[in-house]
This record gives sequence, C-alpha cells and structure tokens, in this order.
Amino acid sequence: MAMTALVIDDSEVLREEIVRTLKEARLFETYLEARDGLEGFKTLLNNKVDLVLCDLEMPRMDGFRFLSMTRSRGELQDLPIILLTSREDRDTKIRGLEQGASDYVTKPFDSGELVARVRVQMKVKGLQDELKRSNELLRKLSITDPLTHLHNRRHLMEMVDKEFQRASRKGGALSLVILDIDYFKKINDTYGHQEGDKVLVALADIVRLRLRSYDVAARYGGEEFVLLLPETPLQEAQAIAERLRLEVQDHVFDGSLHGQVITISLGVATYPSPRIEGTDSLFRQADEALYRAKQNGRNRVELMSGST
Ligand code: GH3
Ligand code: MG
Ligand code: MG
Ligand code: MG
Repeated sequence: MAMTALVIDDSEVLREEIVRTLKEARLFETYLEARDGLEGFKTLLNNKVDLVLCDLEMPRMDGFRFLSMTRSRGELQDLPIILLTSREDRDTKIRGLEQGASDYVTKPFDSGELVARVRVQMKVKGLQDELKRSNELLRKLSITDPLTHLHNRRHLMEMVDKEFQRASRKGGALSLVILDIDYFKKINDTYGHQEGDKVLVALADIVRLRLRSYDVAARYGGEEFVLLLPETPLQEAQAIAERLRLEVQDHVFDGSLHGQVITISLGVATYPSPRIEGTDSLFRQADEALYRAKQNGRNRVELMSGST
C-alpha cells in the first residue's frame, strides 16, 4: 500500500531535510509539505495521510492548535503525529503528548532516531488498523447467519427492540413479516439437505433484493425468515409480502431443483395496534397470521387479526 507522509514546518530547510531523510529510508511513497498548522490541516482533509511530522512553533496556526483540531475529528484520531520540537523544555513535550501527539523528536534531529521513531509509529498504526479490521469482521460475523448471510436472530431481536422503541416514541408504523417455506421437509426429503440449503440461500437472495436501506431481514429459524420494516404501514407491508410471495413462487432454480416450484407463507403485523403493546405481541400477531396462512392453504399472505 502506498504510504503518504505530511511534513508541517515553517522552515523550508527543515522540511527538505526531513523529506530527504525519510526518502533515504524508503518509508513513504508520497511526501506532502505544509508551512503552518492551517495549511497542514487543509492538506490532511484533502489527502489520505498515514503519518504527520509537525513543528510546534509556526505562524498562523501552531502545532498545538493543529493537534487539537486534528484529534477532534473522529477519522483522524489514530493518525500518528510526531511533534518536532526545538525546545528541550520538558513541559512542552508533556503538553504535546497530552494533547494527542504520538511521539516527539527534538530538533536538530538525529536522522537515525527520526527514522526509528517514524518506523515505530507506522508499526503501531498498522497493528491498530489490523485490530480494527478484525474487530469489524468479528462484529459482522456475530450478527450474520453463516448460510444465507442475512442477519441472525440475535441481531434481529436487537433491531426489533430498537425500532419498536423508536416507533413508540415517534409514532411511526413498524411492520413485521414472518415467512416460512411451505412443505420444506418434503424438499429436503426429495432432493437432500444440501439442495434444501440452496433453497434457503436463494430465498435469502430474493428477500435481499427487495430490501430498502433501513429494512432488516433475518433468518429467524431453520426455514423461517423475518422482515422488519420501519416506517411501513400494514397495507404497504402486505404489498411487500405479496410481491415476495410471487417472486418466490416464480423463481426458477438451477440444477436438480430445476422445475420445482417452491412457495412461502407469510404473516404480517404492524404496530401501532390495540393488540400490540410490545415486541412480544408484535411477533405473536405476525406468527398467528402466518399460522392462518398455513391453515388457509399455504402460498399466501395473512394479516394480523382485527386488521380488516
Ligand atoms: P409447513 O408448510 O407446515 O411449513 O411444512 P414444513 O415441512 O416446511 O415444516 P416443518 O416445520 O415441519 O419442517 C421444517 C423443515 O425445515 C424441517 C427441517 O429439516 C428443515 N430445516 C430446518 N433448518 C434447515 C436447514 O438449515 N437446512 C435445511 N436443508 N433444512 C432445514
Ligand atoms: Mg517553527
Ligand atoms: Mg417452520
Ligand atoms: Mg415450513
């Protein structure tokens, strides 16, 4: 990955010396320069910078101000910033570190020490980035169903709580659709469990294509899925459910499932409603509607009771 360093100092001679030293060590591919904190800060905002070397005493905006402006921006919190201080003054160094500097180098600098300190900061940054990436991956895995890559049940429950609270606070309509594959056991028995899994994946893909950005789709159980639809009144949720039903029914499978029609049954419930006082009853109403869809012949959408 191409790395970029930004050198901020009002002395051109010093900037050139630093750039030359870092170039000799082949630490970066790109070197940007700025004459004061303000110019440096603007450069930061317009470029992807991996490390900053920054003087303390400069006209217009000094190093301390540059530090506090940079650290106040979330995305620049982990950016390594090494201060260049000409003072032996220990209080200045402490103040710099307290304000978020990663390290400091005293001018006139020793090139070996400068390179070593830059290397350490780059290494720390690399480890931090790696940790962040693996944390993100872990978080993603922890909320994702491994087979269908939809959200898992645990995440769904969190989102239902959150959206229910929001809907009750703001008064918006929150719909919940539960869908269940019809006669899925027979599909497994006829084609084998692996082909059954393919049906689950295909169904998840159909659902995903229909999602708006704020909708949540989850695998709720084995062959049951849930759609959480914020800001969606019952009739709109019914239309979405109906469209899904038709899309699944019309889906043409590949391989040994080719020619096999798969259908789903769906139950829809919407808050607010006199029958729904919490997330439990929201689920219960949708589940009861799904049960009726099964009872009434499958491959159909039923709404919660009292809605027609
Ligand atoms: P109904 O129309 O009443 O829903 O009938 P059904 O056969 O779909 O219902 P039932 O609940 O009896 O069967 C669900 C089946 O789903 C049983 C189980 O083997 C299958 N199943 C659950 N999880 C998975 C899975 O991860 N992969 C596969 N292939 N099958 C699964
Ligand atoms: Mg200066
Ligand atoms: Mg089931
Ligand atoms: Mg089923």
